[in-house]
Amino acid sequence: MLFAPDTIDSLVFAAALANTHPGASRSGDDELASPRQLTEFLDQQGYRGRFDRDDAELAEVVETRSQIHDLWELRRDDAVPHVNRLLSDASAMPFLVRHDGLDWHVHAVALSAPLAERIRVEVAMGLLDVIRSNEWERLRSCAAEDCTGVFVDLSRNGSKRFCSVRCSNRVNMIEHRARVAQN
Ligand SMILES: [Zn+2]
Ligand SMILES: [Zn+2]
Repeated sequence: MLFAPDTIDSLVFAAALANTHPGASRSGDDELASPRQLTEFLDQQGYRGRFDRDDAELAEVVETRSQIHDLWELRRDDAVPHVNRLLSDASAMPFLVRHDGLDWHVHAVALSAPLAERIRVEVAMGLLDVIRSNEWERLRSCAAEDCTGVFVDLSRNGSKRFCSVRCSNRVNMIEHRARVAQN
């Protein structure tokens, strides 16, 4: 495997969060526009720990989401100061923990820390692995012309082009039809 299981979880989560941003979402809307939408999103992602479910928390998560979404635009060297700052701002201190039936994995802030802070630190911990493994180019934008989604390519050969099966099927169909039309 390319990364540790908890790193993979963090990266998958980071992309899913970025894809709720109006600049990346399928609907073109902000898909975290209410505490209820945030609750649904975190349930889908199986997110644990402190969760206040209020407007202040939502605002902080939305701000954090913008920071994470924008990291996809950066080159590896330029991402480093951002990742370092996400960790230092939270005084991140890695430790191993087992909770909620999950085997030993790394946290760097307490489960009782505010949600947005936990998200920033977890995503930064994931990206830290990506950077030091020199795999930054696996943070990609979808190759479908009509999609602004982002993803992390976790495939073995690193050849993934699309954010989702939906995009991959759609583009393959279009390319197939174009080939048929040419013949
Ligand atoms: Zn955990
Ligand atoms: Zn896509």
